[in-house]
Formats: sequence, C-alpha cells, structure tokens
Amino acid sequence: MSPQVLKVDQVNVFYGTSQALFNLSFDVHKGETLALLGRNGAGKSTTMKSVAGVIAAKSGHITLHNQAITGRPAHLIARAGIGYVPEDRQIFPDLTVEENLDIAIKRGANGEDDWSIERVYEMLPLLKPLRERLGGQLSGGEQQMLTVGRSLMGNPDVLLLDEPSEGLAPIMVQKIGDLIQSLREMGKTIVLAEQNLHFCLGLADRAVVIDKGTDVFVGTITELNDNADIKQRYLSV
Ligand code: ATP
Repeated sequence: MSPQVLKVDQVNVFYGTSQALFNLSFDVHKGETLALLGRNGAGKSTTMKSVAGVIAAKSGHITLHNQAITGRPAHLIARAGIGYVPEDRQIFPDLTVEENLDIAIKRGANGEDDWSIERVYEMLPLLKPLRERLGGQLSGGEQQMLTVGRSLMGNPDVLLLDEPSEGLAPIMVQKIGDLIQSLREMGKTIVLAEQNLHFCLGLADRAVVIDKGTDVFVGTITELNDNADIKQRYLSV
C-alpha cells in the first residue's frame, strides 16, 4: 500500500457534555479515495471538522505526514495541507466567482502541481463563464464546484469533501462524481464523507463505516458492497 498521509488515532470529540466521537481511528494513504460512510448523525461531519481543526478533539491524535496537527487552529491545518470542503459550502456571497478563487489560501510551491485560477477553470469548466457572477447568485451545484475549486487553490495534500452530492440535482451529482474521478486519476488523496454508498462505488478505494461516533468497519469499497450485514446494520441499504 502507498505511504500513509493522514492518521486519525483514538479521537474523542464532545459538543459540550455530549460525546460525538468515541475513539475513532482510521488512516488514509497517498493517492487513495477513502469513503467515510454512515447514517445521519453518525459522526461524519464531526470527523471532518476535527481533522480540519474547526472543532477540537478532547483526546486522541491526528497526524498529517507524521506531524501532529491535533489542536492546531484551522488556518494552520489548511496551510499544513488539509483542504476542507464543508457540507454547507462556505463561499463568499458578495464576491464574484473569480474573487472567491483569488482569495483562497495559497500554500507551498509544488511546481507543476500548483493550482492557479486558470487550472481550476480547466478542471471545473462550468465556473469560467460564471467568473464575474456573485457567489450568492450561484446554484447549489455551482457553489459546490466553487468551494472545491477554492480548496484546490490551496494545493492541498488531502482533500476532505463533506457530502458533496447532498441536495444537488442528478446532473450536478454526476458532475461532482466526474470531478472526484478526475482528481483521483491525478493522484490526489481524498476523504469523501457520504451517506450514499452507491455514489462511492467506482469512486472510492476503501471505506470506513462510522456508527454512533465510532468506526465499525474498514475495508475496500468492494468488500463493503459485498457485506450485506454491515450495509443493513449501518447504512440503511
Ligand atoms: P449528517 O449526515 O446528518 O450530517 P453526520 O454523520 O455528519 O450526519 P454529525 O453531524 O457529525 O453526523 O453529528 C454527530 C453527532 O453529533 C450527532 O448526534 C449530532 O446530533 C451531534 N452534533 C453535531 N453537531 C453538533 C453541535 N453543534 N452541537 C451539539 N451536537 C452536535
């Protein structure tokens, strides 16, 4: 297997006195797409937020390239190489598409791998004709594309996508799937939180199933798809 890039080890997260993650552990290897699957409220978004530094883990360790990032503020974690695309698509509504891309955090000089606005438009061609449009005037799917594009501008080593297909029309779901497939073919490392196993088939290499804040299954996406018991117990399939 390729080298480990991200490791989440025995992480516990609380909202006030209510515990949301219980000793959650998984790892992500270079160039793979890992699906984080689970029902509503299982803890997928909380996992993404704790990796991105949006909420702090109470205990446990998160490492990126073997360097501890646990407890570091979100902007430093972004700079260290985590690109986070939240579920609620946080674009700037009063800035144009191009301005939204232009103000994205830039990091590193990865040479040929560096993302630029032009390269984002090549990858996400539907954004280019919208470059002068205000973020707030985009459709949900266009906003999702813009959020991914903005995250790519930061040259992330690991891209966290939190339910990118949620609430989108089927044609946009297809486009998001194609985009993930293209990023994967470029060798990007991706963590994809999803409720929908079907969406992950053909896109993800491995899957971690989360239930009640803990990992209950780790395996290849094919092993998961072949496991009727796990699917029925934890995924409403
Ligand atoms: P969904 O698919 O609905 O987004 P999820 O798997 O992403 O679900 P989380 O949003 O991580 O699940 O929620 C995990 C648990 O933490 C749930 O029990 C949820 O009610 C709780 N939770 C999430 N956010 C908060 C919050 N801000 N305050 C208190 N509890 C929260």
